[in-house]
Amino acid sequence: MKTALPPIPVERASGSRLFLSDGRVLVDGIASWWTACHGYNHVHIANALRRQIEIMPHVMFGGLVHEPALNLARRLAQLLPGDLDRVFFSDSGSVAVEVAMKMAIQYWLNRGERRRTRIVAFHGAYHGDTFGTMAVCDPVEGMHALFRGVLPEQIVTALPQSEETVLAFENLMAREAGSIAAILVEPLVQGAGGMLFHDASVLATLREIATRYGCLLIFDEIFTGFGRSGAMFACIGAGVTPDIVTLSKALTGGTLALAATIASSSVFEGFWSDEADHALMHGPTFMANPLACAAANASLDLFETEPRLAQVAAIESGLKEGLAPSRGRPGIADVRVLGAIGVVELEKIRDLEALRARFVGKNVWIRPFGKIVYLTPALSIDKEDLRLLTTAVCEVAAEEGQRLS
Ligand SMILES: *Cc1c(COP(=O)(O)O)cnc(C)c1O
Repeated sequence: MKTALPPIPVERASGSRLFLSDGRVLVDGIASWWTACHGYNHVHIANALRRQIEIMPHVMFGGLVHEPALNLARRLAQLLPGDLDRVFFSDSGSVAVEVAMKMAIQYWLNRGERRRTRIVAFHGAYHGDTFGTMAVCDPVEGMHALFRGVLPEQIVTALPQSEETVLAFENLMAREAGSIAAILVEPLVQGAGGMLFHDASVLATLREIATRYGCLLIFDEIFTGFGRSGAMFACIGAGVTPDIVTLSKALTGGTLALAATIASSSVFEGFWSDEADHALMHGPTFMANPLACAAANASLDLFETEPRLAQVAAIESGLKEGLAPSRGRPGIADVRVLGAIGVVELEKIRDLEALRARFVGKNVWIRPFGKIVYLTPALSIDKEDLRLLTTAVCEVAAEEGQRLS
């Protein structure tokens, strides 16, 4: 982009640190879009990758199967609540959401219900950059407004979180349910659409309404999964079980591209048929890549052998304490924290690039977007580094806020 500062050459990464080619070292506040949950270059994942690359970095997953994928599928099924135990692997978050939507629509087609072809999604949502997922992102904030008119028409509406919006959602469903395959939501935190939080009760409402109208409920946990929102998965934290879940981002501990779409047994039953064309119509080339599955298994080991969820709780208090000085300051609209997510929302950011450069000048890697300065550090970050990050956020936000007022 002509309007952006040139990208910064980085040579090496370790723990919560980025080592730049010019010798500078940055403390990383966002863990590469919150993927590197154990910090960079964790020796346990590196060893697992080394072992797997010697044996079989890749083999096709059509007609063949392998232990790294079977093991990972079993473990994800075990970790997820209810009967979410049928796993489909793909290679990016957007594709995992595409697969979830296709699964929901084909589920109804296989049952002979040809009218249930639409997806309901919510303002503030971000579900990916492919054409199918662009249509379920926030139509204004979601980076894709340019493509309106080219995208399939989905229903994007307000989250039912007040008396008024619950009523509006009830009315919408009463009117449209016969044409709706599934309701799609990022549970507890809408991430890249603006780091917006909502209560577990909103998800309970969605579950109740989806069940009442026979629609499927999809949780996109690509942002919230693997401890980020406090519990291992937001659906566990919220105590609400969807019919389909999508995972990616931190699935391989930030090392390789891998994603999963996990369905309940009853969704799976809709495809388990004597009719060949009832099979799920999807098959990415690098489906269940063994190297990526080995990394994901090693990442899950670390959730068992290292106290990750306790670390998230400590990060949550560190963020609350560290970002508190920003609260109520001029130009600052909101400060919010959930799990290992800390957000300072300004009334406005005039020059994003300048703000980003100010952070690099303070030797931290923090990438504000929209009106948001956020932290999603490695779950293994230590107290001192976290303190450094929150101090930098408060200082830069105060400068920017002052400038506004
Ligand atoms: C990042 C993200 C996606 C898209 O994942 P990609 O791997 O970038 O395609 C989808 N949903 C959510 C909630 C995300 O945070």
